[in-house]
Amino acid sequence: MRKFPEWIRRKLPEGSSERTTRKISELKLNTVCESAFCPNRSECWSKQTATFMILGKTCTRFCKFCGVLQGFPEMVQEDEPERVAQGAFALGFRHVVVTSVTRDDLQDEGANQFCRTIAAIRNLLPHVTIEILTPDFHARYELIRQICDARPAVFNHNLETVRRLTRDMRPQADYDRSLEVLRLVKVCRPEILTKSGIMVGLGETREEILQTMKDLRSVDCDILTIGQYLRPREDRQTVVCFVEPEVFLELRGEGKRMGFREVSAGPYVRSSYHAQDVCESAQVPVP
Ligand code: SF4
Repeated sequence: MRKFPEWIRRKLPEGSSERTTRKISELKLNTVCESAFCPNRSECWSKQTATFMILGKTCTRFCKFCGVLQGFPEMVQEDEPERVAQGAFALGFRHVVVTSVTRDDLQDEGANQFCRTIAAIRNLLPHVTIEILTPDFHARYELIRQICDARPAVFNHNLETVRRLTRDMRPQADYDRSLEVLRLVKVCRPEILTKSGIMVGLGETREEILQTMKDLRSVDCDILTIGQYLRPREDRQTVVCFVEPEVFLELRGEGKRMGFREVSAGPYVRSSYHAQDVCESAQVPVP
């Protein structure tokens, strides 16, 4: 196993995550923070931020880098949208991030549950901004349209890695299809900000990263996150290299020059890391 470099070690946060843990457990909510073994959980939860994960805990795809359970998914829970809204209310969120497992088994791939969740949050918290981080829905126009019509402020769909590594890392996904999802969001509702993220440290080259960023700009992607890949479970992809903090800074500069509204890049950056601050920097319109 690769030795962790100095810059990847961090001190534990000072605050307590007890309140967030209690509320999430009381409302029986799933979070990607727990399900994907996110390394930022203590920090985020002690600041009372979290990312809700809807449509169960089990994903129908088998991406090599992802810590979420993979296999046969659970039943969709009717009351889940209201519980997510109550969770956001109880934790005093001003910016709510909702993601899901991929549900290739459902006819609508989970699109309706996203819409119901957005509606439930808006109903209880009319002034919060809502960010969704979705699967690719096979780039089906009608599903993406349906979700855009629910008017999230930010529509995030991650490219995850460079073109060359996509087939290996995400066997059931497709690089161009993911780009198409982001393009379709802008076709449906240009005012929704689009966001995407990639992990580095999987063996990609600098040129490939820059090309990926250009590809994202070619579909008018507004916000980009770049973080270091860390293996979430023993049976997942190993880390190929640790990218130095200066490289993240450099990539952020390149991204800004390419025209992204905001680029969040650093070893611990994840799609929803400091999501509210990232949105504020990108000037996401408040409802
Ligand atoms: S970065 Fe996102 S997924 Fe990770 S703990 Fe924070 S809110 Fe949760």
